[in-house]
Amino acid sequence: KKNCLIIGAGGVAQVVAHKCAQNNDVLGDLHIASRTVSKCDEIIASVHEKSAMKVDGVFKAHALDATDTAAVAALIRETGCEIVINVGSPFVNMSVLEACIETGAAYMDTAIHEEQDKICETPPWYGNYEWKRRDACKYANVTAILGVGFDPGVVNAYARLAADEYLDSVESIDIVDINAGSHGKWFSTNFDPEINFREFTGTVYSWQNGAWQSNKMFEVGHEYDLPVVGKQKAYMTGHDEVHSLSNRYPEADVRFWMGFGDHYINVFTVLKNLGLLSEQPVKTAEGQEVIPLKVVKAVLPDPSSLAPDYTGKTCIGDFVKGTKDGKPAEVFIYNISDHKDAYNEVGSQGISYTAGVPPVAAAMLIANGTWDVGEMANVEDLDPKPFLGLLNEIGLPTRIKDADGDRALTF
Ligand code: NDP
Repeated sequence: KKNCLIIGAGGVAQVVAHKCAQNNDVLGDLHIASRTVSKCDEIIASVHEKSAMKVDGVFKAHALDATDTAAVAALIRETGCEIVINVGSPFVNMSVLEACIETGAAYMDTAIHEEQDKICETPPWYGNYEWKRRDACKYANVTAILGVGFDPGVVNAYARLAADEYLDSVESIDIVDINAGSHGKWFSTNFDPEINFREFTGTVYSWQNGAWQSNKMFEVGHEYDLPVVGKQKAYMTGHDEVHSLSNRYPEADVRFWMGFGDHYINVFTVLKNLGLLSEQPVKTAEGQEVIPLKVVKAVLPDPSSLAPDYTGKTCIGDFVKGTKDGKPAEVFIYNISDHKDAYNEVGSQGISYTAGVPPVAAAMLIANGTWDVGEMANVEDLDPKPFLGLLNEIGLPTRIKDADGDRALTF
C-alpha cells in the first residue's frame, strides 16, 4: 500500500477521489489538498455518499497553495504520502514536481505545465518545463509520469499498443476526441473556460513530414465516421500528446483532432474577435481594470454544474496507420464513455471521468511496482498492457476496429 495525495479539488479531482477510495486497498491513506479546503471537504463527503471506501481508512482534506514547493513537500512528509496525483490547474505542475523530487514521492499529472502569462510556447512543449527535470528525477529515483489523463494519457498508450502489437512500421497517428454529449446550456465549456479557451487561441502545432507545422484553429477540418457517435466534424487542434509522441515516433505524422459543433465555433469566434478571450488587462471607462477572459469565465456556467443533466457519449481514440507484413494497415483503438453513467457512479460528467480514472490506474501500478520506474516517463514510454488491462476493470474499456472487425480488447 502507498498513501496517496490528490492535489486540486475540481472536476477531475472529484473522479480521482472516488476511484482512489474504490481502490484504497492498494492505495492506503488518502489525502486531498487544494486552495479552497471546503471543496476538498465536499469531495470527501460525496465519496462517502456515493462510492464508500473499499476498506476502512483515512481520507483527509488540507488547505494548500500548490505553487509553494516547501508547503507541498511539508504536506507530503506530514501525511506520509508516497504518490502524488496532481490534478490541480496546470500552473502548479512544476512546483509540485519539485516537491516530489525533494521528498522522493512519485509524481503524476494530466496536462503540461503552463505559465499564466504565456499563451503559446515553442514545441515540444514538454521541453520548456517538465523534461528539464528529467535528470533530477532519475538522480533522485523519483517516478514521474507525465500527462496520464485520457488525452494526453490513455491515447499515448493506444499509440504504443498499435505500434507494438498491430503494425511493423508507423506512418501516422491521428488522435480524435469527440464529445457527442449534450449539456443543455446555451453555451458552456466542459472544463475551466480559462484553460479550455487557451487551448484554442494559440498556434495549432502538428508534427508532419518530420517537422513542426503551424496552423490556425479551425483552419483544418475533417469528417470522421466513428463507432457509436457516427459522423462527426473534427478540427486539427494543438494538444499535449503531439509533443511527446512525435519525440518517440519522429518518423510518423502526429496530429490531434477535436470535435466542435458550428455553434461552439461561432461563439468562440465572436468572443475571440471582440478581444474577450484575452488575458491582458483592459481599463473600463470608469477606470476599473479587468481581464476579459476572467469576466467571460465568471459569466459562463461552472463546468461542474453541467454533470447532472449531461447526456450522450464520448468517443476518443487513435487512428494509427502504417504497414503490417509489407502491406498497408490501419487500426482505430478507442474508448466510448457515457456522461450519465459517469454521473451515476461518481457525480461527474464524462469528460472529467475519462481524465480522472487513468491517473488512479497509474497510481495503482506504481503502488504494486509495475510502473514504479524511478524516472520521468511519458505514458508511451511505459508498457501499455497492464495500464489498459486495469482500465478495462475500473471503468474505461478499450476497443479496437481494424480489418478483423470491431471488438473489445483484453490484456
Ligand atoms: P478545475 O479548474 O475544475 O480544478 C482545478 C483545481 O486546481 C481547483 O480545485 C483549484 O483550486 C486547484 N488549484 C489551482 N491553483 C491552485 C494552487 N495554487 N494551489 C492549490 N490548488 C490549486 O480543473 P479540472 O479538474 O477540470 O482539471 C484539472 C487538470 O486536469 C487540469 O490540469 C486540466 O488541464 C487537466 N485535464 C486533463 C485532461 C486529460 O484527459 N488529460 C482532461 C481534462 C482536464 P480551488 O478550487 O481550491 O481554488
